[in-house]
Amino acid sequence: MVVTGRIYVPSAVEEGGSVVAMGCFSTQATALSVLRSFLKKSHQVPLERASIAAWEVDVVGDDGVTILSEYECRHCPVCQRPTFWIDIERFKAACYGSACGAWIEESAVEAEVIDCGWPPTQFAEQVESIDDAMRTLRRIAARAEAAGMSATDERFSMDSF
Ligand SMILES: [Zn+2]
Repeated sequence: MVVTGRIYVPSAVEEGGSVVAMGCFSTQATALSVLRSFLKKSHQVPLERASIAAWEVDVVGDDGVTILSEYECRHCPVCQRPTFWIDIERFKAACYGSACGAWIEESAVEAEVIDCGWPPTQFAEQVESIDDAMRTLRRIAARAEAAGMSATDERFSMDSF
């Protein structure tokens, strides 16, 4: 088989700098779904960054590679696990931890409006800054905890099978 054109390569960088290889794929969508399922494990394997690159086959050197998206890992404001992945280019963040799914996103329609939410309680709110969004999510987690629904209890820290 002769491979021509572009291939899509997801990768992640562990704490300490080693790169995790995940394979190369013929479509961006496949590369993204492979990366996403890997990022769910970032509370087991400490990760710092992740990216998806497109490589032109048979092109030598840097000219052959384009970074399509880059992500940074943080602690989730709700479940506290290091599974909160931020898309650096356009501010868009989501927790990949099982059963959490907290998210923050710049509004696509209004400038300087940040949407955030936490699906288990169907909570969603609009705020003015990313810091506000982080604070709002922490408040929601605290409120859920006070109501006996801890974001760090078994249901939330359980690994997906
Ligand atoms: Zn979370």
